[in-house]
Amino acid sequence: MSKTVYLETFGCQMNIVDSERIIDLLAQIGYHQVDSADNADLVLLNTCSVRDRAERKVYGHLGRFKPIKDRRPDLIVGVGGCVAQQEGEKLLEKIPHLDIVFGTHNVHKLPEMVLKVEGAEGRFQETGFLDRETRLNLFPSRTGGDTVNRFVTVMQGCDNFCSYCIVPHVRGREISRPSEEIVNEISSLAGEGVREVTLIGQNVNSYGLREVGELSFAGLLDQVNAIDGIDRIRFTTSHPRDISEELISCFGRLEKLCHHIHLPVQCGSNRVLEKMNRGYTREHYLDLIERLRRICSDIRFTTDIIVGFPGESESDFEQTLDLVEKVRFADAFTFLYSPRPGTAAAELEETLAPEQKQQRFDRLIETQQKISLTFWQGDVGRLVPVLVEGESRQANGQLFGRTTWNRIVNFTGTSDMIGQIVPVRIIRNFRNSQLGEVEKTQVA
Ligand code: SF4
Repeated sequence: MSKTVYLETFGCQMNIVDSERIIDLLAQIGYHQVDSADNADLVLLNTCSVRDRAERKVYGHLGRFKPIKDRRPDLIVGVGGCVAQQEGEKLLEKIPHLDIVFGTHNVHKLPEMVLKVEGAEGRFQETGFLDRETRLNLFPSRTGGDTVNRFVTVMQGCDNFCSYCIVPHVRGREISRPSEEIVNEISSLAGEGVREVTLIGQNVNSYGLREVGELSFAGLLDQVNAIDGIDRIRFTTSHPRDISEELISCFGRLEKLCHHIHLPVQCGSNRVLEKMNRGYTREHYLDLIERLRRICSDIRFTTDIIVGFPGESESDFEQTLDLVEKVRFADAFTFLYSPRPGTAAAELEETLAPEQKQQRFDRLIETQQKISLTFWQGDVGRLVPVLVEGESRQANGQLFGRTTWNRIVNFTGTSDMIGQIVPVRIIRNFRNSQLGEVEKTQVA
Protein backbone atom coordinates (compact mmCIF):
# COMPACT_ATOMS: atom_id res chain seq x y z
CA MET A 1 0.00 0.00 0.00
CA SER A 2 1.29 3.44 -0.85
CA LYS A 3 2.42 5.63 2.03
CA THR A 4 1.54 9.30 2.42
CA VAL A 5 3.53 12.46 3.07
CA TYR A 6 2.27 15.84 4.22
CA LEU A 7 4.69 18.68 3.47
CA GLU A 8 4.52 22.34 4.50
CA THR A 9 6.84 24.83 2.83
CA PHE A 10 7.93 28.21 4.22
CA GLY A 11 10.03 30.96 2.67
CA CYS A 12 11.35 31.66 -0.76
CA GLN A 13 11.25 30.10 -4.23
CA MET A 14 14.38 28.07 -3.44
CA ASN A 15 12.39 26.23 -0.79
CA ILE A 16 9.45 25.74 -3.14
CA VAL A 17 11.79 24.08 -5.64
CA ASP A 18 13.39 21.96 -2.90
CA SER A 19 9.92 20.86 -1.78
CA GLU A 20 9.02 19.71 -5.27
CA ARG A 21 12.25 17.72 -5.31
CA ILE A 22 11.42 16.23 -1.89
CA ILE A 23 8.08 14.98 -3.23
CA ASP A 24 9.79 13.48 -6.32
CA LEU A 25 12.43 11.76 -4.17
CA LEU A 26 9.89 10.37 -1.73
CA ALA A 27 7.77 9.02 -4.60
CA GLN A 28 10.74 6.75 -5.36
CA ILE A 29 10.24 5.03 -1.99
CA GLY A 30 6.47 4.81 -2.32
CA TYR A 31 5.16 8.04 -0.75
CA HIS A 32 2.49 10.21 -2.34
CA GLN A 33 1.58 13.70 -1.19
CA VAL A 34 -1.60 14.42 0.79
CA ASP A 35 -3.00 17.76 1.96
CA SER A 36 -3.56 17.00 5.63
CA ALA A 37 -1.23 15.87 8.40
CA ASP A 38 -3.99 13.98 10.20
CA ASN A 39 -3.67 10.68 8.37
CA ALA A 40 -0.21 11.07 6.82
CA ASP A 41 2.57 8.53 7.49
CA LEU A 42 5.24 11.19 7.19
CA VAL A 43 4.98 14.92 7.98
CA LEU A 44 7.68 17.34 6.90
CA LEU A 45 8.36 21.04 7.31
CA ASN A 46 10.64 22.74 4.80
CA THR A 47 11.64 25.79 6.80
CA CYS A 48 12.89 29.36 6.42
CA SER A 49 15.05 31.27 8.90
CA VAL A 50 15.37 34.56 7.07
CA ARG A 51 12.95 36.25 9.49
CA ASP A 52 12.58 35.67 13.18
CA ARG A 53 8.82 35.15 12.81
CA ALA A 54 9.26 32.46 10.17
CA GLU A 55 11.66 30.62 12.46
CA ARG A 56 9.32 30.80 15.46
CA LYS A 57 6.50 29.43 13.31
CA VAL A 58 8.48 26.20 12.84
CA TYR A 59 8.36 25.43 16.54
CA GLY A 60 4.62 26.20 16.61
CA HIS A 61 3.95 23.91 13.67
CA LEU A 62 6.05 21.10 15.10
CA GLY A 63 3.99 21.37 18.30
CA ARG A 64 0.87 20.74 16.23
CA PHE A 65 2.21 17.33 15.19
CA LYS A 66 2.79 16.17 18.79
CA PRO A 67 -0.80 15.05 19.54
CA ILE A 68 -0.89 13.22 16.18
CA LYS A 69 2.33 11.41 17.05
CA ASP A 70 0.94 10.62 20.52
CA ARG A 71 -2.04 8.98 18.84
CA ARG A 72 0.02 7.30 16.12
CA PRO A 73 3.59 6.61 17.29
CA ASP A 74 4.52 5.30 13.81
CA LEU A 75 4.14 8.78 12.36
CA ILE A 76 7.52 10.08 11.12
CA VAL A 77 8.18 13.79 11.66
CA GLY A 78 10.97 15.62 9.82
CA VAL A 79 12.31 19.17 9.42
CA GLY A 80 14.38 20.44 6.49
CA GLY A 81 15.46 23.78 5.06
CA CYS A 82 17.24 26.73 6.65
CA VAL A 83 16.12 26.27 10.28
CA ALA A 84 17.18 22.62 10.10
CA GLN A 85 20.55 23.71 8.70
CA GLN A 86 21.04 26.26 11.43
CA GLU A 87 19.81 24.31 14.43
CA GLY A 88 20.82 20.76 13.44
CA GLU A 89 21.17 18.39 16.37
CA LYS A 90 19.64 20.97 18.74
CA LEU A 91 16.24 20.45 17.11
CA LEU A 92 16.35 16.74 17.87
CA GLU A 93 17.33 17.52 21.47
CA LYS A 94 14.58 20.12 21.94
CA ILE A 95 11.77 18.20 20.22
CA PRO A 96 11.45 14.57 21.31
CA HIS A 97 8.75 13.76 18.76
CA LEU A 98 11.02 14.80 15.86
CA ASP A 99 12.69 11.97 13.90
CA ILE A 100 14.59 13.61 11.05
CA VAL A 101 16.54 16.84 10.53
CA PHE A 102 17.92 17.43 7.02
CA GLY A 103 19.86 20.52 5.98
CA THR A 104 19.86 22.57 2.78
CA HIS A 105 22.56 20.42 1.12
CA ASN A 106 21.02 17.11 2.19
CA VAL A 107 17.62 16.87 0.53
CA HIS A 108 18.93 13.93 -1.55
CA LYS A 109 19.54 11.92 1.65
CA LEU A 110 15.93 12.19 2.84
CA PRO A 111 14.63 8.88 1.36
CA GLU A 112 17.45 6.96 3.02
CA MET A 113 16.75 8.66 6.35
CA VAL A 114 13.02 7.94 6.10
CA LEU A 115 13.68 4.26 5.37
CA LYS A 116 15.97 4.04 8.40
CA VAL A 117 13.34 5.58 10.67
CA GLU A 118 10.72 3.22 9.22
CA GLY A 119 13.09 0.39 10.19
CA ALA A 120 13.25 1.77 13.76
CA GLU A 121 16.96 2.43 13.38
CA GLY A 122 16.74 5.66 15.38
CA ARG A 123 16.49 9.42 14.80
CA PHE A 124 18.74 11.13 12.28
CA GLN A 125 20.22 14.48 11.33
CA GLU A 126 22.24 15.40 8.23
CA THR A 127 23.35 19.02 8.02
CA GLY A 128 26.85 18.90 6.56
CA PHE A 129 27.71 21.12 3.57
CA LEU A 130 28.64 19.25 0.40
CA ASP A 131 31.73 19.81 -1.73
CA ARG A 132 31.39 21.70 -4.98
CA GLU A 133 31.42 18.68 -7.33
CA THR A 134 28.69 16.88 -5.40
CA ARG A 135 26.57 20.03 -5.28
CA LEU A 136 26.91 20.49 -9.04
CA ASN A 137 25.57 16.97 -9.53
CA LEU A 138 22.64 17.57 -7.23
CA PHE A 139 21.06 20.69 -8.69
CA PRO A 140 17.31 20.18 -8.66
CA SER A 141 16.11 19.46 -12.16
CA ARG A 142 12.54 19.97 -13.22
CA THR A 143 9.91 18.28 -15.28
CA GLY A 144 6.91 20.08 -16.65
CA GLY A 145 4.07 18.56 -14.66
CA ASP A 146 0.89 20.27 -15.71
CA THR A 147 1.89 23.85 -15.12
CA VAL A 148 2.39 26.69 -17.55
CA ASN A 149 5.23 28.24 -15.54
CA ARG A 150 8.15 26.72 -13.66
CA PHE A 151 10.99 27.85 -11.44
CA VAL A 152 14.38 26.73 -12.71
CA THR A 153 17.34 26.90 -10.32
CA VAL A 154 20.38 28.44 -12.00
CA MET A 155 22.60 29.05 -8.99
CA GLN A 156 22.58 28.39 -5.27
CA GLY A 157 24.16 29.96 -2.22
CA CYS A 158 25.42 33.47 -1.63
CA ASP A 159 28.83 35.05 -1.05
CA ASN A 160 27.59 38.51 -0.18
CA PHE A 161 27.25 38.32 3.57
CA CYS A 162 24.85 41.22 3.96
CA SER A 163 25.26 41.87 7.66
CA TYR A 164 21.64 41.05 8.60
CA CYS A 165 21.23 37.93 6.46
CA ILE A 166 21.47 34.30 7.48
CA VAL A 167 21.38 32.90 3.94
CA PRO A 168 25.15 32.56 3.31
CA HIS A 169 25.39 30.74 6.63
CA VAL A 170 22.61 28.25 5.88
CA ARG A 171 22.85 27.85 2.10
CA GLY A 172 26.62 27.92 1.66
CA ARG A 173 28.80 29.56 -1.00
CA GLU A 174 27.67 30.52 -4.48
CA ILE A 175 27.71 27.89 -7.15
CA SER A 176 26.32 28.18 -10.70
CA ARG A 177 24.79 25.33 -12.60
CA PRO A 178 26.24 24.68 -16.08
CA SER A 179 24.38 26.76 -18.68
CA GLU A 180 24.13 23.80 -21.05
CA GLU A 181 22.22 21.83 -18.43
CA ILE A 182 19.88 24.77 -17.75
CA VAL A 183 19.15 25.30 -21.45
CA ASN A 184 18.51 21.57 -22.00
CA GLU A 185 16.16 21.46 -19.04
CA ILE A 186 14.19 24.50 -20.21
CA SER A 187 13.96 23.06 -23.74
CA SER A 188 12.45 19.87 -22.27
CA LEU A 189 10.07 21.93 -20.14
CA ALA A 190 8.93 23.78 -23.26
CA GLY A 191 8.29 20.41 -24.91
CA GLU A 192 6.09 19.47 -21.97
CA GLY A 193 3.92 22.58 -22.24
CA VAL A 194 5.72 25.06 -19.98
CA ARG A 195 5.47 28.59 -21.42
CA GLU A 196 7.14 30.71 -18.75
CA VAL A 197 10.29 30.08 -16.73
CA THR A 198 11.56 31.98 -13.71
CA LEU A 199 15.30 31.57 -13.29
CA ILE A 200 15.99 31.49 -9.59
CA GLY A 201 18.93 31.76 -7.25
CA GLN A 202 19.91 33.78 -4.19
CA ASN A 203 21.77 36.24 -6.41
CA VAL A 204 21.16 35.42 -10.07
CA ASN A 205 23.12 38.44 -11.34
CA SER A 206 26.35 36.83 -10.23
CA TYR A 207 25.52 33.70 -12.23
CA GLY A 208 28.65 32.28 -13.86
CA LEU A 209 31.05 34.81 -12.35
CA ARG A 210 32.89 32.19 -10.34
CA GLU A 211 32.96 29.45 -13.00
CA VAL A 212 35.76 29.47 -15.58
CA GLY A 213 34.43 29.79 -19.14
CA GLU A 214 30.77 29.98 -18.07
CA LEU A 215 28.26 32.40 -19.61
CA SER A 216 27.33 35.58 -17.78
CA PHE A 217 23.75 35.85 -16.55
CA ALA A 218 22.90 38.06 -19.54
CA GLY A 219 24.45 35.41 -21.82
CA LEU A 220 22.27 32.77 -20.19
CA LEU A 221 19.16 34.94 -20.73
CA ASP A 222 20.07 35.23 -24.41
CA GLN A 223 20.16 31.45 -24.74
CA VAL A 224 16.87 30.95 -22.86
CA ASN A 225 15.26 33.63 -25.02
CA ALA A 226 16.13 31.54 -28.09
CA ILE A 227 14.29 28.42 -26.87
CA ASP A 228 11.23 27.64 -29.00
CA GLY A 229 8.01 27.30 -27.03
CA ILE A 230 9.09 29.52 -24.12
CA ASP A 231 7.13 32.77 -24.30
CA ARG A 232 8.15 34.50 -21.09
CA ILE A 233 11.23 34.71 -18.89
CA ARG A 234 11.51 36.10 -15.37
CA PHE A 235 14.30 35.94 -12.83
CA THR A 236 14.79 36.49 -9.15
CA THR A 237 16.53 37.55 -6.93
CA SER A 238 18.82 40.29 -8.16
CA HIS A 239 21.49 42.14 -6.23
CA PRO A 240 21.75 45.79 -7.33
CA ARG A 241 25.55 45.71 -7.13
CA ASP A 242 25.85 42.92 -9.69
CA ILE A 243 23.58 44.27 -12.43
CA SER A 244 25.75 44.70 -15.50
CA GLU A 245 25.23 46.95 -18.53
CA GLU A 246 24.86 43.73 -20.53
CA LEU A 247 21.97 42.65 -18.28
CA ILE A 248 20.29 46.05 -18.52
CA SER A 249 20.47 45.79 -22.31
CA CYS A 250 18.55 42.48 -22.16
CA PHE A 251 15.41 44.43 -21.19
CA GLY A 252 15.68 46.34 -24.46
CA ARG A 253 16.38 43.43 -26.80
CA LEU A 254 14.97 40.16 -25.42
CA GLU A 255 11.30 40.08 -26.40
CA LYS A 256 10.49 37.26 -23.96
CA LEU A 257 11.93 38.96 -20.89
CA CYS A 258 9.09 40.29 -18.73
CA HIS A 259 9.05 44.00 -17.99
CA HIS A 260 9.46 43.53 -14.26
CA ILE A 261 12.44 43.23 -11.97
CA HIS A 262 12.53 42.55 -8.25
CA LEU A 263 15.47 44.59 -7.05
CA PRO A 264 15.84 44.61 -3.26
CA VAL A 265 17.09 48.02 -2.11
CA GLN A 266 16.69 47.36 1.65
CA CYS A 267 17.29 51.00 2.64
CA GLY A 268 17.63 54.48 1.13
CA SER A 269 20.43 55.74 3.38
CA ASN A 270 24.09 55.28 2.40
CA ARG A 271 25.10 55.16 6.05
CA VAL A 272 22.76 52.21 6.73
CA LEU A 273 23.50 50.51 3.40
CA GLU A 274 27.15 50.46 4.40
CA LYS A 275 26.33 48.95 7.79
CA MET A 276 24.23 46.39 5.97
CA ASN A 277 27.26 45.55 3.79
CA ARG A 278 25.16 45.89 0.66
CA GLY A 279 28.01 47.14 -1.52
CA TYR A 280 26.14 49.97 -3.33
CA THR A 281 24.92 53.47 -2.63
CA ARG A 282 21.48 55.00 -3.09
CA GLU A 283 22.92 56.98 -6.01
CA HIS A 284 24.01 53.75 -7.69
CA TYR A 285 20.59 52.23 -7.12
CA LEU A 286 18.75 55.27 -8.49
CA ASP A 287 21.06 55.31 -11.51
CA LEU A 288 20.24 51.64 -12.21
CA ILE A 289 16.54 52.42 -12.09
CA GLU A 290 16.99 55.30 -14.52
CA ARG A 291 19.05 53.19 -16.94
CA LEU A 292 16.53 50.35 -16.84
CA ARG A 293 13.64 52.77 -17.45
CA ARG A 294 15.52 54.39 -20.31
CA ILE A 295 15.88 51.05 -22.08
CA CYS A 296 12.42 49.68 -21.17
CA SER A 297 10.00 52.52 -20.54
CA ASP A 298 7.19 50.48 -18.97
CA ILE A 299 9.37 48.30 -16.72
CA ARG A 300 8.04 47.98 -13.16
CA PHE A 301 10.12 47.49 -10.07
CA THR A 302 9.39 45.69 -6.84
CA THR A 303 11.70 45.64 -3.87
CA ASP A 304 12.44 44.53 -0.30
CA ILE A 305 12.93 47.11 2.45
CA ILE A 306 14.06 46.57 6.04
CA VAL A 307 12.87 49.11 8.60
CA GLY A 308 14.61 49.69 11.93
CA PHE A 309 18.12 48.41 11.22
CA PRO A 310 20.34 49.09 14.29
CA GLY A 311 21.33 52.75 14.31
CA GLU A 312 18.73 53.84 11.73
CA SER A 313 18.07 57.52 12.46
CA GLU A 314 14.97 59.51 11.53
CA SER A 315 17.00 61.10 8.75
CA ASP A 316 18.10 57.65 7.45
CA PHE A 317 14.49 56.53 7.42
CA GLU A 318 13.38 59.68 5.60
CA GLN A 319 15.94 58.90 2.92
CA THR A 320 14.28 55.52 2.49
CA LEU A 321 10.90 57.22 2.11
CA ASP A 322 12.45 59.65 -0.34
CA LEU A 323 13.94 56.80 -2.40
CA VAL A 324 10.57 55.02 -2.44
CA GLU A 325 8.96 58.21 -3.78
CA LYS A 326 11.69 58.68 -6.37
CA VAL A 327 11.71 55.11 -7.70
CA ARG A 328 7.96 54.57 -7.49
CA PHE A 329 8.04 50.82 -6.90
CA ALA A 330 4.98 48.93 -8.10
CA ASP A 331 5.13 47.03 -4.82
CA ALA A 332 7.44 46.50 -1.88
CA PHE A 333 7.93 43.73 0.64
CA THR A 334 8.61 45.52 3.88
CA PHE A 335 10.13 43.96 6.99
CA LEU A 336 10.79 45.06 10.53
CA TYR A 337 14.41 44.34 11.33
CA SER A 338 14.96 41.43 13.68
CA PRO A 339 18.45 40.16 14.54
CA ARG A 340 19.36 36.74 13.20
CA PRO A 341 21.78 34.98 15.55
CA GLY A 342 25.09 34.25 13.85
CA THR A 343 24.99 37.31 11.55
CA ALA A 344 27.25 40.35 11.89
CA ALA A 345 24.31 42.70 12.52
CA ALA A 346 23.18 40.60 15.48
CA GLU A 347 26.23 42.01 17.30
CA LEU A 348 25.06 45.60 16.76
CA GLU A 349 23.18 47.32 19.52
CA GLU A 350 19.50 47.84 18.73
CA THR A 351 18.81 51.58 19.00
CA LEU A 352 15.10 51.77 18.30
CA ALA A 353 12.16 50.99 20.56
CA PRO A 354 9.68 48.51 19.01
CA GLU A 355 7.01 51.25 18.82
CA GLN A 356 9.41 53.55 16.91
CA LYS A 357 10.16 50.79 14.42
CA GLN A 358 6.47 50.06 14.03
CA GLN A 359 5.64 53.74 13.41
CA ARG A 360 8.26 53.97 10.69
CA PHE A 361 7.04 50.70 9.23
CA ASP A 362 3.46 52.05 9.10
CA ARG A 363 4.62 55.28 7.43
CA LEU A 364 6.50 53.29 4.82
CA ILE A 365 3.54 51.04 4.12
CA GLU A 366 1.24 54.05 3.75
CA THR A 367 3.65 55.74 1.31
CA GLN A 368 4.15 52.58 -0.74
CA GLN A 369 0.47 51.65 -0.85
CA LYS A 370 -0.44 55.00 -2.37
CA ILE A 371 2.19 54.48 -5.08
CA SER A 372 1.13 50.87 -5.73
CA LEU A 373 -2.45 51.99 -6.15
CA THR A 374 -1.52 54.49 -8.84
CA PHE A 375 -0.01 51.65 -10.88
CA TRP A 376 -2.87 49.24 -10.38
CA GLN A 377 -5.69 51.77 -10.77
CA GLY A 378 -3.85 53.11 -13.79
CA ASP A 379 -4.11 49.66 -15.36
CA VAL A 380 -7.93 49.82 -15.31
CA GLY A 381 -9.10 50.29 -18.90
CA ARG A 382 -5.78 49.08 -20.38
CA LEU A 383 -5.52 46.14 -22.74
CA VAL A 384 -2.69 43.87 -21.59
CA PRO A 385 -1.27 40.52 -22.68
CA VAL A 386 -1.94 37.86 -20.04
CA LEU A 387 -0.30 34.43 -20.00
CA VAL A 388 -3.15 32.15 -18.90
CA GLU A 389 -2.03 29.75 -16.17
CA GLY A 390 -5.18 27.85 -15.23
CA GLU A 391 -8.53 27.92 -13.50
CA SER A 392 -8.89 30.64 -10.93
CA ARG A 393 -8.99 29.65 -7.28
CA GLN A 394 -11.10 32.73 -6.55
CA ALA A 395 -14.24 32.38 -8.60
CA ASN A 396 -16.02 29.51 -10.29
CA GLY A 397 -15.55 29.22 -14.02
CA GLN A 398 -12.87 31.90 -14.20
CA LEU A 399 -9.33 31.60 -15.46
CA PHE A 400 -6.29 33.40 -14.14
CA GLY A 401 -3.00 34.50 -15.58
CA ARG A 402 -0.32 37.15 -15.13
CA THR A 403 0.64 40.36 -16.82
CA THR A 404 4.24 41.05 -17.80
CA TRP A 405 4.40 42.96 -14.46
CA ASN A 406 3.58 39.75 -12.57
CA ARG A 407 0.13 40.91 -11.49
CA ILE A 408 -2.58 38.25 -11.29
CA VAL A 409 -5.62 38.82 -13.51
CA ASN A 410 -8.86 36.79 -13.22
CA PHE A 411 -11.24 36.70 -16.17
CA THR A 412 -13.87 34.57 -17.86
CA GLY A 413 -12.44 32.37 -20.57
CA THR A 414 -12.28 28.90 -22.03
CA SER A 415 -9.89 26.12 -21.03
CA ASP A 416 -8.22 26.13 -24.47
CA MET A 417 -6.75 29.53 -23.49
CA ILE A 418 -4.59 27.92 -20.80
CA GLY A 419 -0.96 28.22 -21.87
CA GLN A 420 -1.74 31.02 -24.36
CA ILE A 421 -1.06 34.73 -24.15
CA VAL A 422 -4.44 36.45 -24.56
CA PRO A 423 -5.42 40.14 -24.70
CA VAL A 424 -7.32 41.10 -21.56
CA ARG A 425 -8.83 44.48 -20.73
CA ILE A 426 -8.44 45.27 -17.01
CA ILE A 427 -11.80 46.38 -15.61
CA ARG A 428 -11.25 46.36 -11.85
CA ASN A 429 -8.43 46.39 -9.36
CA PHE A 430 -8.18 44.54 -6.03
CA ARG A 431 -5.37 44.45 -3.45
CA ASN A 432 -3.80 41.24 -4.74
CA SER A 433 -5.26 40.81 -8.20
CA GLN A 434 -7.17 42.42 -11.04
CA LEU A 435 -10.34 41.54 -12.89
CA GLY A 436 -10.37 41.60 -16.67
CA GLU A 437 -12.30 40.74 -19.82
CA VAL A 438 -10.83 38.98 -22.82
CA GLU A 439 -10.80 41.29 -25.80
CA LYS A 440 -11.30 39.81 -29.24
CA THR A 441 -9.24 42.53 -30.91
CA GLN A 442 -5.46 42.64 -31.10
CA VAL A 443 -3.48 43.65 -28.01
CA ALA A 444 -2.42 47.27 -28.24
S1 SF4 B 1 22.54 39.05 -1.28
FE1 SF4 B 1 22.52 39.59 0.91
S2 SF4 B 1 20.33 39.49 1.46
FE2 SF4 B 1 20.55 38.35 -0.47
S3 SF4 B 1 20.88 36.23 0.15
FE3 SF4 B 1 22.90 37.14 -0.10
S4 SF4 B 1 23.48 37.85 1.96
FE4 SF4 B 1 21.24 37.49 1.96
